[in-house]
Amino acid sequence: MKSLAALIRESGAPLPYARSRPLEIVEIDLAPPRAGEVLVKIESAGICHSDLSVVNGTRQRPLPLVGGHESAGVVVELGAAVKNLKVGDHVTSIFLPSCGTCSECLWGTPAFCSIGAASNARGEMIEGGSRISFNNAPVNHYNGVSCYSQYAVLDERSLIKLPDDIPFDIAALFGCALLTGIGAVRNSAHTKEGQSLGVWGLGGVGLSALIGAVISKASPIFAIDPVASKRELALSLGADFALDPRENLRDQLPAGVGVAIECAGRADTLKSAYEATSRGGITVTVGLPPASEMFSISALSLVSDVKTIRGSYLGSANPRVDIPEFVDFWRAGKLPVEKLLTSVSPMSQVNETMDALQSAQVVRQVIHPY
Ligand SMILES: [Zn+2]
Ligand SMILES: [Zn+2]
Repeated sequence: MKSLAALIRESGAPLPYARSRPLEIVEIDLAPPRAGEVLVKIESAGICHSDLSVVNGTRQRPLPLVGGHESAGVVVELGAAVKNLKVGDHVTSIFLPSCGTCSECLWGTPAFCSIGAASNARGEMIEGGSRISFNNAPVNHYNGVSCYSQYAVLDERSLIKLPDDIPFDIAALFGCALLTGIGAVRNSAHTKEGQSLGVWGLGGVGLSALIGAVISKASPIFAIDPVASKRELALSLGADFALDPRENLRDQLPAGVGVAIECAGRADTLKSAYEATSRGGITVTVGLPPASEMFSISALSLVSDVKTIRGSYLGSANPRVDIPEFVDFWRAGKLPVEKLLTSVSPMSQVNETMDALQSAQVVRQVIHPY
């Protein structure tokens, strides 16, 4: 079938993207879903920093590709072997399909699935190959999702069914921003009630981490970002202190924070987060800095201050457990996702949304591809 989609042929286009237009809206061909796959009508797709990283070239992915890895939509067609979804189901996408059979999956850590990570790196579906073509040439998938498109073929294992009453623009954020941010606080740091916590970098993931910190009853909660409007938003979401990165957290809390969550994707921010971590505390890093950036610390401090540094991918989550919990949180009013939504735009404005994200003045934008 035909679908309008945002195609990236080359990374590293000059700014502003509104002029260079690295995301081209073209009519792609979608092959029918194979046995375990599903055709989804995309209703809402998030503009995440890792999409921008493909556009600006800090993250290398096989090109050309159809962008987008955070979405919500409706199932419109099923492959012959799909077991857990039916036509009409509302779904949110997960940017790492888990195979269910590799050692990581069997050990209960589907966020680390090695088979899904390998197919993502190749730009293929987890069952192999591409279902997307343009002018008769194959196009790569982005993390098995490629949701900057009116329709997308996804593996059943890349989708979580949601209740029908959750707005698509809210549900779109469940699979990346919320899973990554809340997961870092709960699954990676195992934050306890009353534990002090700081979040560095207040984008969609960072503010989701802050929401997770409030749910976990961390106290006090620090939010650190150079943009004043994001610090204001953090205070309205429950942060006790909002600091500019030039301020020293230890002026407010001399011992430092027990849990430091780095979401800025910069090695120097990770260093600041580590230095603000208390004795016995944990620094969790979620951001994706450019592959060339190095991170150096006092080797002695790890032992003498009994610190832990942990990387967190996909919030170290089990999406089939965590996302239904988000639904419960949302119903209980504990997930003010609408406060993270900066704007809703048509897909034709996708390049403009990338400029806005690059400017660091926005939290989460979504696009509607219809
Ligand atoms: Zn993302
Ligand atoms: Zn696996």
